Amino acid sequence: MIYLDNAATTQMDAKVIDYMHELMHNHYGNPSSIHAYGRQAKVLVENARTKISSLLNVFPAEIFFTSGGTEGINTIINGVLCKPEITKVITSPIEHSAMLNSIKHYSKLYDVELCMLAIDDKGNINLKELATELENHDGKSLVSLMHANNEIGTLLSIKKVGEICKKSNALFLSDTVQTIGKFKNDFSAGYPDFAIGSAHKFHGPKGIGFIYINGNTKVDPIFIGTQERNMRAGTENIFSIAAMAKAMEIAYENMNLVTKKYAELKSYLLEKIKSEIGDIAYNGDIDGLPNLINIAIPKTSSNEMLLMKFDIAGVMVSGGSACSSGALKDSHVIEALGKADKYRAIRIAFSKYTTTEEIDKFIDVLKKSI
Ligand code: PLP
Repeated sequence: MIYLDNAATTQMDAKVIDYMHELMHNHYGNPSSIHAYGRQAKVLVENARTKISSLLNVFPAEIFFTSGGTEGINTIINGVLCKPEITKVITSPIEHSAMLNSIKHYSKLYDVELCMLAIDDKGNINLKELATELENHDGKSLVSLMHANNEIGTLLSIKKVGEICKKSNALFLSDTVQTIGKFKNDFSAGYPDFAIGSAHKFHGPKGIGFIYINGNTKVDPIFIGTQERNMRAGTENIFSIAAMAKAMEIAYENMNLVTKKYAELKSYLLEKIKSEIGDIAYNGDIDGLPNLINIAIPKTSSNEMLLMKFDIAGVMVSGGSACSSGALKDSHVIEALGKADKYRAIRIAFSKYTTTEEIDKFIDVLKKSI
C-alpha cells in the first residue's frame, strides 16, 4: 500500500512509539497526586511543555495541552468570542472545517459579527481588505487565518497579518496545525496571539495537541476545572503529551534534511507529471506547503470514480471531499476557489517516509485513471 495522504495524518515515528511504550510500562501516576508517582507524571508533562515552548521560542506558561487541533480551535474561538469587548470575527472561506464550524457556531451564540474575506485564485487573502475591515470596525476584532491550507498548501505571512492586527489592536489566531513540525515557527515577536498544534500531523500520536496563548491574553476555558492552570480540566494524557514533545523534537532535529527531501520529491513529481501526462492545472499554490500538491483534473464522466480507482490500486490520496451522511460532497476549499464545477481535486501529501518509487506508482495510476 502507498500512503500519500500525510496532510490528513501521518504514520507514527517508531522512536515515538518506543518512547510511549516505555512510559506506559513505567509511569502511571496522576500528575495531580503529590506522591512520588504523581510527581514523576507531573515532571513528564512539564518537561513536554518546556520542550514545546522552547521550540516555538515562547514561555512554557503559554502552552496548554488539548485533545488535538479541533479542541484547540474550539477553546480559542469560544474563549475569545464570549468576551463582550469582541464584536467582530474575520476569517476566510478556506479555513479547516473545524475552524469554520466553530466560528459559525460561537459567533451566532455570542452575537458577534462574522466577516469572510475574499480569496484570489490561489487561495490568498487580500491584506488591504483585511486592514480595511479592521479599520472600519469600532470595536475589537478576532482575526482567524490559517498558516498553511491543508488542502491546497497556500501559505499566509503570519508576520504581515500580525502587524496589521497589532495596528488595529485586534487579536490574531493562526491555525498552525499544518506547519508545526514543518517550519521553525517562532512566536516571540508577539504574533499570532494564538496558535494550534496537533501531534498526529508530525508523526506523533492522535488525540493530542496544544494551544499557544500569548501571555498578555486571557481566554475562558470550555472544560472547567483545575488542570492546565484552569484552562483544560481532566487528568492529563501524560503518555501522549510526552510523545508529542518527542515527535516535535525529532521533527526539529531532522527539519533541514526532510525539507530538502520534500523539495526533491516535489520537483520529481512535477517533472513526471509534465513528461508522462502533460499540461495539468493545480489547485492553490504549488510553491506553498513543501510536502503538498493539489492537482486539478477536468471532470469527465469517465473519471467520476477517480479516488476509488486510486484506492483499488492501493494508492491512498485525498480528493479533499468529505463524506457526510454517505454522500461525497465537493470540498468547500475547491468550491471557494470556484473550481468545484469543472475540476476534480487530488491532493498528494508526502512525509519523510515517502519514496520516488511510490510517486512512480501514483503516476502510473493517474495515467490510467484520467
Ligand atoms: N486544522 C487543520 C489545518 C487541520 O489540517 C486539521 C486536521 O485535519 C485540524 C485543524 C484538526 O486537527 P485534529 O485532527 O487534531 O482535530
